[in-house]
Amino acid sequence: MSRRAPLEMGPEEFRRLGKGLVDKIADWLAEMPEGPVTPAEEPATVRALIDKERPLPETGEDAGALLEEAAGLLFGHSLFNGHPRFYGYITSSAAPIGALADMLAAAVNPNVGSYKLGPMATEVEGQTVRWIAELLGYPADAGGVLVSGGNMANFLGFLAGRTAMLGQEVREEGLPSGARVYASEATHTWIHNAADLFGSGLGSISWIPVDGDGRMRMDALGEAVDADRAADRTPFMVIGAAGAVGTGAVDPLAEIADLCEREGLWFHVDGAYGGFAACVPGADGRLDALGRADSVAVDPHKWLYAPLEAGCALVKDPAHLVGAFSYRPDYYNFEAEALSYYEWGMQNSRGFRALKVWLCLRQAGRAGYERMIGDDIRLAERLYAAAAAHPEVEAGTRHLSIATFRVVPEGVDKTADAEYLDDLNREVLDRLERGGEAFVSNAVVDGVYWLRACIVNFRTDEADVDYLPEQCAAVGRQVHAERRP
Ligand SMILES: *Cc1c(COP(=O)(O)O)cnc(C)c1O
Repeated sequence: MSRRAPLEMGPEEFRRLGKGLVDKIADWLAEMPEGPVTPAEEPATVRALIDKERPLPETGEDAGALLEEAAGLLFGHSLFNGHPRFYGYITSSAAPIGALADMLAAAVNPNVGSYKLGPMATEVEGQTVRWIAELLGYPADAGGVLVSGGNMANFLGFLAGRTAMLGQEVREEGLPSGARVYASEATHTWIHNAADLFGSGLGSISWIPVDGDGRMRMDALGEAVDADRAADRTPFMVIGAAGAVGTGAVDPLAEIADLCEREGLWFHVDGAYGGFAACVPGADGRLDALGRADSVAVDPHKWLYAPLEAGCALVKDPAHLVGAFSYRPDYYNFEAEALSYYEWGMQNSRGFRALKVWLCLRQAGRAGYERMIGDDIRLAERLYAAAAAHPEVEAGTRHLSIATFRVVPEGVDKTADAEYLDDLNREVLDRLERGGEAFVSNAVVDGVYWLRACIVNFRTDEADVDYLPEQCAAVGRQVHAERRP
């Protein structure tokens, strides 16, 4: 049989199509910052472009034409989180070297589940994890593994800590009733998923209130642990935020570490957003205690600017990762002379997402990250100051690179017109998005609706943030004129 598979591509064809695609991406990278952040099209418009009624193609199509079409669809109909005026949620601009890395990783396609199936890739991932630990001030001999994102990284820390604290019986018999975990009410929804999916139930979470700055209240945490012990429940973990998802507030990590040591509890830090700010001196001194956590989740696809997807779980004692996840089936011939990552997490086959992170770390270096992350923080401070200085804008909060603010048109009373203001700012956000000029998201703090800009974007500069308060105020003025003529 002389076989020419429908998916095979000869070296010459690959070279031609690949170079053509890289040229298109380079052109798009050059033009993208000048155009809109998003075309803000209706879902029906976008769906119509790929002809939703079309059945699965029976026969194949020409690869060159397909790549051309796919590039056109994406360049013409996507939201660009790499645009300098994208400030939404926590999604960074993606380093171009990461795109090239993903192509290289996919071409070689090592399976980084086992050392044998991806020897060089496993070593690169190991070094990536050690460098991430170093950047955070976390022990470099910690166990760590790259995962799809912050949710997964937090799950790994949660499960490693749960088994470490409650014992291997958990894996045989399930959880004892009364197991309790402590998290501030500002915690990201991964904790809901973790409690729910891993069988302890939402009732196992003890929600700790936050103070006026959005940080976990230590008095309330201490009382909650005491009350649970008195009621014969089993506290096992406290979760601290190194940058809460809404406002970016950093919990008092050193105090939480003290309490966990005193009480014999696992200390997990969710640093998916703010963890990497630990490499910037003076960003927030609370981050200095990151190294005291038993486990930390960080997100290279946020503040390391790696393209999606890349999260990282770090566990101080690697034995706790193996302790939570390892099974050795008889169909594997992966003796433990070298690390095989399938034993360290929930995935079996694993892609080489480490390559893009490794190359980003090398291209920028520690100093490069200190500068980029530091600049993002300084821009958020500048935005906060510009918002505070604007007569029709109220500044709310600023932690790390997240600033919140809202439009308060002249003559509107913040107390009497509270609901009106919330609605007005909701409309400002929607109109900004539809206009495609800038993209912000929102935060609700103490029941008040704020516009929220999160700068994890190495393309944003001073002009981009200086423009934002007046742009929001102008839209707000217009909405106000329509609603209260
Ligand atoms: C983004 C984020 C998560 C979830 O991370 P994903 O990468 O979206 O899965 C969890 N916690 C915090 C604090 C976050 O900012």
